[in-house]
Amino acid sequence: MLIKLSGEALMGDRGYGLDPDFVSEVASEIRNAHQMGVQIALVVGGGNIFRGVSSSAVGMQRSRADQMGMLATVINGLALQSAMETLGVETVVQTALEMPKVTEAFQRDRAVAHLNENRVVIFVAGTGNPFFTTDTAAALRACEIDAEILLKATKVDGVYSADPVKDPAAQRYDRLTFTEVLAKDLKVMDLTAITLCRENALPIGVFSIYEKGALAAVLGGQPKATIIEE
Ligand code: UDP
Repeated sequence: MLIKLSGEALMGDRGYGLDPDFVSEVASEIRNAHQMGVQIALVVGGGNIFRGVSSSAVGMQRSRADQMGMLATVINGLALQSAMETLGVETVVQTALEMPKVTEAFQRDRAVAHLNENRVVIFVAGTGNPFFTTDTAAALRACEIDAEILLKATKVDGVYSADPVKDPAAQRYDRLTFTEVLAKDLKVMDLTAITLCRENALPIGVFSIYEKGALAAVLGGQPKATIIEE
């Protein structure tokens, strides 16, 4: 499976950057899931450090801003790799923007070989192209490695009809179709990512990374995620 972790998921309660304690907690959730015998790849975001679209809104050239955003995902991926290795899980980082002195470049077959060798693989630098998001990178990499599901880690335990933090009447969905997600304009992932998943019949699961044990519970078949499929 492929897990999409947003940069915010590594920020903990801080307003910016990385919280090392929280990164360790996330790493141990992933380690526990990995110990269940599941092959795990991850795509990490960079929004806790830099988001291209916000900087382009204040005058920075968008492609340049997006390059900075992609570099932010590399920082997050390396932090997570370090935390995973501290827990004794062999972990490889593959980047879509080549930087041979830091880590290996994305190469689909090598990524699959690493997964078959029981290594966790973290994909960083998104798709390597500006004007995309790491949600889209997650959908793309999940398709490339033939993942059975894309699990999107969020702050809440699934998809709601409205933001459950702001609206206590928000309704949680156990299951949704792609058509419903689009028709109701539910903010699961951006349209490019949703379309890619839909066209490739790749189910999405949305779960809370803030709830201890939720990831392992989802893998154990418990209804701890909203599942989106056709
Ligand atoms: N980004 C990009 N191309 C990609 C993926 C990401 O240019 O394929 C840049 C973009 O600027 C984005 C930033 O990297 O704002 C961080 O990614 P994202 O916003 O998806 O991170 P998240 O919200 O998941 O933390």
